[in-house]
Amino acid sequence: MEARLRQADKMQALGTMAGGVAHDFNNLLTAILGSLQLAGRRVGDNPGLHRLLRNATMAAERGSALTRRLLAFSRRNELALRAVSVNALILGMGDLLTRSLAGPSGTTVEVRRRLAPEPVTAVVDPEQLELALLNLCINARDAMPGGGTITIATEEVAVAAEQVPDLPAGSYVRVTVADTGTGMTPEVLARVFEPFFTTKEVGKGTGLGLPMVYGLVQQSGGGLTIDSRPGEGTRVALYLPAGDGVAAQGVGEPREVAPARE
Ligand code: ADP
Repeated sequence: MEARLRQADKMQALGTMAGGVAHDFNNLLTAILGSLQLAGRRVGDNPGLHRLLRNATMAAERGSALTRRLLAFSRRNELALRAVSVNALILGMGDLLTRSLAGPSGTTVEVRRRLAPEPVTAVVDPEQLELALLNLCINARDAMPGGGTITIATEEVAVAAEQVPDLPAGSYVRVTVADTGTGMTPEVLARVFEPFFTTKEVGKGTGLGLPMVYGLVQQSGGGLTIDSRPGEGTRVALYLPAGDGVAAQGVGEPREVAPARE
């Protein structure tokens, strides 16, 4: 079963609204954090008050991280697009994945990579792509409470007109993240791109992961599909516009290139 978003306008309106709210909240949280810092300097050595201030600071920092994710989802035209070697980016995420995917002790989440032969070059913002892949892997881990396998694969594909919903014909790098987890019911699948939609318990899910991933591929001129069935796992495929292999840079070496398509 595929989730196909046909509500680009609704998403854009939601993004604009979410961005506005996030922006205002971020300003308020900055003021709160500043005041807490000042208060911390003036309470002397009262340990009880210090603890309260620390708790308040931690809560405000969490709120601030949340608003940053909201801004990432709603932000438009601020991607640093460049030709990126997607295989190198995925291989470079090794440590980050190991640290981020550590689950409850006793369960093992194995990460497998099936990378196409070089060059696999896409025009994308590498930092945002890394964040998107991390989000997908964390979702995969959360869907496998008893452990399982995450397979990250890359492939260069020629997409014909109407082969992939809402994706123009062209040359793309397809990056898939597949898991052997719980899968999703059609009801959940239909709502996954809604900001704040989550089935995770309070404090664990924000419901901003997949909207962020969706926003990134849209703004990069690509698309995404999700295949998921209860009990059979989930496979998310990102289609990123293929780039010029010669111009591909390692991560951390900024180089602007024109988007492949506009
Ligand atoms: P969050 O992870 O904070 O809940 P997301 O937008 O990333 O937010 O995901 C929304 C919901 O989609 C999740 O709460 C979960 O129900 C479902 N979901 C996402 N990825 C998967 C997956 N790989 N397997 C099963 N369910 C998933």
